This record gives sequence, structure tokens and C-alpha cells, in this order.
Amino acid sequence: MAKSNKVPKIAGHKVHFIGVPSKLTRTAWKEMSIEWPRSPLHLHTFGKLTKFFEGLKKGELWGTRCANPKCDEKGIWLPPRADCPDCNQPMKWVKFKNPVIGEIFTYTYVEYPGEGIEISTPYYQIDVKIPGCCTIMKGYLVRGKAEIGMKVKAGFRTENPVNNILDLYWEPLD
Ligand SMILES: [Zn+2]
Repeated sequence: MAKSNKVPKIAGHKVHFIGVPSKLTRTAWKEMSIEWPRSPLHLHTFGKLTKFFEGLKKGELWGTRCANPKCDEKGIWLPPRADCPDCNQPMKWVKFKNPVIGEIFTYTYVEYPGEGIEISTPYYQIDVKIPGCCTIMKGYLVRGKAEIGMKVKAGFRTENPVNNILDLYWEPLD
């Protein structure tokens, strides 16, 4: 088909604005300022850590341990790492036996969370020390009052999972 050099017929067509007018906002400055909300779609892959996130939905907690026998770090990394942070060699998966019980190493009472938090406030953000782990994992207490040294048990959002780290929560070991 031959290329056409003709200008497309747009007679009667007028280019028009199809967006939402920007809202003027007051600031400390004299200059004109507008609110410019953004909502980009962010595609994120869990990559080699997919097993960890799939596990949460099934009520399983998986960590990784270095497969290199010469590595100094023998403990379990949680959250898992695909490659050993100490020797950069591949890790192997380790499944924790349920119930997974740890203790609160430290905590923060969160009243005013950062942008984008998807759990209700206030809540206790807790750092959980788990036997056999070389890391102290962050999480949140789903009920009760946090105290240092308190025993907590891992819980999993197996019904209506949200497909991120919030599928793992902690509750007091009653
Ligand atoms: Zn290693």
C-alpha cells in the first residue's frame, strides 16, 4: 500500500482537554501551586522469594539458610534472602515447624503511620526473635499489648490473603 502524504482530515475536530483540572492549593509561597496526585501502577515481582509469599497464604513460614558449608553464618535468614548476604552463595529453603513461636525483642506503638500503610492504627510494630534465626524480623501484633520478652505466635492470613507481607501477623501466645 502506497504511503499517503495527505494530511488527516480533522476538519471540524478540535483538540480538547480530557483530564481533571488541577486543584489550586495554598502554600507558604506566593507562586501559583497545584495539587498533582499521582497513582502509578507499580508491577513488583517477588522473584526468587516467591516461595516465602506463597507459603504465607498456606500457613507456612519459610526462611533460607546458606548452602555453603564454609560460610560463617549458620542461622536462618528471615525474611529470606535469595543469596547469602555474608558469602554471596545460593541459599536453601528451610520450613519452620508450626506453631512458630518467637519473642518480642523490641516494639513501637504506631499511631501515625507513614503513607500507604494498609493496617488499621494504632498497632504495635514488633521485632520478633525466633530461635535458630540470625535475623530479627519485623511484623505486627494483631491483638493485645506488646511487651519486651513476650512470647508471640505466627498467624497467617490464609483466608482472603492480601498477597504481601501482611499475610503474616503475630499474636500473643495465650
Ligand atoms: Zn553464606
